[in-house]
Amino acid sequence: MKDWKTLYEVKGPKCLLELTATELKALMNEGADTVILSFGAIENHGSHLPLGADWFQANMLIRCVHEQLAAMGHKSVPGFPVPFGVQTNQFEREGANLFGNVPISERTFIDMTEDLCLSLHKQGFERFVLCLNHSENHAALHVAAKDLAVRFGLKCVVCDWVPPMNDFWPKVCKNAEHQGHGGEDEASCVLAAVPNLVHLEGCEPYYEEDDGKPVKMGGLHYYGGAVGIYVPVKEDKSPGYIGNPADATVEVGEKCYEAYAQWIAQVADKYLYNN
Ligand SMILES: [Zn+2]
Repeated sequence: MKDWKTLYEVKGPKCLLELTATELKALMNEGADTVILSFGAIENHGSHLPLGADWFQANMLIRCVHEQLAAMGHKSVPGFPVPFGVQTNQFEREGANLFGNVPISERTFIDMTEDLCLSLHKQGFERFVLCLNHSENHAALHVAAKDLAVRFGLKCVVCDWVPPMNDFWPKVCKNAEHQGHGGEDEASCVLAAVPNLVHLEGCEPYYEEDDGKPVKMGGLHYYGGAVGIYVPVKEDKSPGYIGNPADATVEVGEKCYEAYAQWIAQVADKYLYNN
């Protein structure tokens, strides 16, 4: 590799991959028996965000959750961001907008998640905060968590922070319209994590047309609706994103991480530390 520069530098709290075994042991001896994982994907995020956008955000989120838990008096270890996730919802995107995706199957995701959590449990972790940085992992992550709890007695929570943020985003984003995949809030989060990998020049706003068929809670379950949609989209006219990523800023990204982490820490505090 010519022109060697520092490729990797840790500025926040270290995650498990960055700790030595001795450092990890010391943290666990102090009572850190909670591990935080977040599950991303390798996925097309339009021409403005890297294919690892979800992984980069997960890498930030696990550390923010760790800090929020610490503020509540709970010791934890930011585990690691998982780069592998299931396929994009083909109700939303298709064709060229899937180029670059490297998904794993639902079955593999469930097995991978269970294996990772059981390995961590063998090392002494008792509580598992399982977060999403790729909404489509939602169903498989729930299956894995329930299996881990019922069959192996692990204490797990799955935290889908998207629905509780639906009323938060219009307060911090420039755009009041709902921002979807790759929109202002997600672009802001990636910008705050890896600014050199984001290219906002020339991103035009894109919003989907209303089809005139309102259905009560007819949206996707992981966005706060009540429906799972497994029918391919007829024609994807989007540029690979929904919303207005050109308005993304580091400041909005930082506010988002804080709000997501606060909510996740509240969930963990309520359900993982009640006995
Ligand atoms: Zn994403």
